[in-house]
Amino acid sequence: MEERFSKDFTQQEPIEPEAVEAALRVLGHGRLHRYNVAAGEESEAAALEREFAAFTGARYALAVASGGYAIATALRALGVGPGDRVLTNAFTLAPVPGAIAALGAVPVLVEVTPDLVIDLDDLAAKAGEADVLLLSHMRGHICDMDRLMAICEGAGIRVVEDCAHTMGAAWNGVKSGRHGVMAAYSTQTYKHLNSGEGGLLISDDAELMARAVLLSGSYMLYERHGAAPGPEVFDRLKLDVPNISGRMDNLRAAILRVQLRSLPARAKAWNARYRALEAGLAGVAGLTLITRPAQEEYVMSSFQFLLADWPAEAVEEVVARSAARGVELKWFGAREPAGFTSRYEHWGYLETPRLPQTDRVLCGLLDLRLPLTFTLEDCALIARIIRAEVGAVYRGLSRG
Ligand SMILES: *Cc1c(COP(=O)(O)O)cnc(C)c1O
Repeated sequence: MEERFSKDFTQQEPIEPEAVEAALRVLGHGRLHRYNVAAGEESEAAALEREFAAFTGARYALAVASGGYAIATALRALGVGPGDRVLTNAFTLAPVPGAIAALGAVPVLVEVTPDLVIDLDDLAAKAGEADVLLLSHMRGHICDMDRLMAICEGAGIRVVEDCAHTMGAAWNGVKSGRHGVMAAYSTQTYKHLNSGEGGLLISDDAELMARAVLLSGSYMLYERHGAAPGPEVFDRLKLDVPNISGRMDNLRAAILRVQLRSLPARAKAWNARYRALEAGLAGVAGLTLITRPAQEEYVMSSFQFLLADWPAEAVEEVVARSAARGVELKWFGAREPAGFTSRYEHWGYLETPRLPQTDRVLCGLLDLRLPLTFTLEDCALIARIIRAEVGAVYRGLSRG
């Protein structure tokens, strides 16, 4: 009998009991607003900032309402404004160009390579067009950060890292988020920490972080932050920076603090699942796995592969046949954006030239989630199903 997979690709693990207790404590005292503290109390949001700064090794951290908000705040802190051009990845999630558009700024898209990272040759060619790069480590794939930083430093480009998929990851021993002047993280349900919605921002730069704290809506209560610059930095800036409200509350922060402690264990579990799929899909004719450089320490809560240069109908057939057996593949080549999956030409508010290499890569790119509700055996089964369906369609293609 044909094997079928029956679990849900969007079902995350339940919130761990210790985090539930922490949330109940906040609900019990009712001080959900981050600046609502009892005498001598450190708020959950401030404690999360302190602990996240320690986790990343950054001097400063700020907890905010979402990952997209964290990105826009970083760009605002850097002074990006209407009409400014910002380099960014053509292969990313919609809130990334959206954060640039929110400021009235103009995204300049950089091609993706078949390894799913920003194309550094294309970046070098476009380096003169902007002085900020919003670098998205999309789906957890990290480019050669040493070369990227050399290009950007040479061209006077400041780098903001979008680490929505690289919390806990590293390049060449340096934590993801520690190369740029600021880095943004998301704690939305499908990322590495789950508070429903939420975001974090880190930096070593006192002035940038003070601006970010003021922007997030600190009501002159910036001394109630857990990892912020000293009051003298705020004194210089506080009358000049608008309050663009986007704080995190203590309920979410309480959940996140517990999850942050268990992140290393969950990262291990995700990577074991990733490697199970990778092993199960090795050597399938017509299917290309993504190469992972030795310098990259990834945390993979999703899996990607390419059906490179396949006709669209054949990719659609693989998606349909896999779906019929319970395996939900998301295709970046689809004509219409679906759910979370869209590509640059769907962002109709941008005026961007065609990017031939990105088009070619995305037309063959398939993506699946690996929630921790899947076991290693589940992953092996998913791989067997994909193997069989890719094989069946590919044999038809080669017979032509
Ligand atoms: C999720 C995500 C974001 C934004 O996060 P939200 O918290 O949903 O605003 C930014 N970049 C990438 C690559 C993402 O996947």
